[in-house]
Amino acid sequence: MNIHEYQAKQLLREYGAPVADGRVVTRAEEAKTAAGELDGPLWVVKAQIHAGGRGKGRFKEPDAGDKGGVRLARSVEEAAEEARRMLGRTLVTHQTGPAGKQVNRIYIEEGADIERELYLALLVDRETSRISFIASTEGGMDIEEVAAATPEKIVTFSVDPATGVSGFHGRKVAFALGLKGQAYKDCVKLAGQLYKLFVEKDVNLLEINPLIVMTDGRLRCLDCKMNFDSNALYRHPEIMALRDESEEDPKELEASKYDLNYIALDGEIGCMVNGAGLAMATMDIIKLYGGEPANFLDVGGGATKEKVAEAFKIITSDPNVKGILVNIFGGIMRCDVIAEGIVAAVKEVGLSVPLVVRLEGTNVELGKKIINESGLDVIAADNLSDAAEKIVKAVKAAKETN
Ligand code: ADP
Ligand code: MG
Repeated sequence: MNIHEYQAKQLLREYGAPVADGRVVTRAEEAKTAAGELDGPLWVVKAQIHAGGRGKGRFKEPDAGDKGGVRLARSVEEAAEEARRMLGRTLVTHQTGPAGKQVNRIYIEEGADIERELYLALLVDRETSRISFIASTEGGMDIEEVAAATPEKIVTFSVDPATGVSGFHGRKVAFALGLKGQAYKDCVKLAGQLYKLFVEKDVNLLEINPLIVMTDGRLRCLDCKMNFDSNALYRHPEIMALRDESEEDPKELEASKYDLNYIALDGEIGCMVNGAGLAMATMDIIKLYGGEPANFLDVGGGATKEKVAEAFKIITSDPNVKGILVNIFGGIMRCDVIAEGIVAAVKEVGLSVPLVVRLEGTNVELGKKIINESGLDVIAADNLSDAAEKIVKAVKAAKETN
């Protein structure tokens, strides 16, 4: 789960990390009062969306002005004016996709005098199963670009969980960032604070880009992105409360209400599968036959007919889906329950794309009978590769006739 910059900064503040004072507003009328509570002479007005690259982004609506989602203001009035221009408008950045994201919240922050922009991140390194620090002197840019063009400018190391973080790690980061004096001291402290936050709140990714050295020699976190481990949210109600559902994919949101493991993807073949391993294998084999999966979906072991029906409806509601592949191996999951769920969903929302069904395992005969007797236009498949081949072919054929 992602949170907004202003929420991430509040967490940083709680752990003692250096962040500027700021106010979040959702209505233009609140902006002037909010800006007035902050010290000038410089204010920064920042669009809050769950995507980076806001500074270089542009708004779709011309009345938002020809500037990005991070704007400088020299007076309280100007700050309020910029907030008014951005609220409710659609910001497009290289991370939002062409559709962009509507700006519903604005964060107004005290401006900083920047001497240098640096990069600092913590993440869970899956190879070492440890938390890693990533530091670079090239702040303010996309770290992917730095990694591609000048990988030598990125320093990475992981922390042994048995001993935890120590001054040694902080000094390593400070040295990698070329810091001296006060900034060096701030950095050593910051590394410890970030690590503590990361572990205590079950963070997946914590990225500060840029981390800046100010002209007075101190450090400050100017931007912050945080992503939390969704499987650990049950033990952090305070983090759960930061969830902004308007930022999430509506299909994924719907799926989470029914406890379905669903991830939206860019392809055109919708998949309904039981078991994460089988779902991965199904996606692989679709690709092998030249198709692209539109989603990952694991309906789980003990799914009910209602849950299966909801899953099917979520798949068909995606306009990118040009064909559906149901691949079920009935173990705990019974094939007749899957069949009933599909039939119920199609009765309700109809079916306008080819459907390939491969059922195997518990109650398979009953499942096939339910589908056959429903009058549904289903292409039956005998095994996984047969199923993948058939759906890719059917989608191709449907495209050619259209
Ligand atoms: P994004 O990464 O989404 O573009 P950032 O918060 O990193 O947004 O802001 C982009 C740039 O705007 C920063 O690299 C920095 O140069 C400038 N900036 C952001 N916040 C401030 C601030 N409080 N004071 C001065 N400059 C800022
Ligand atoms: Mg940034």
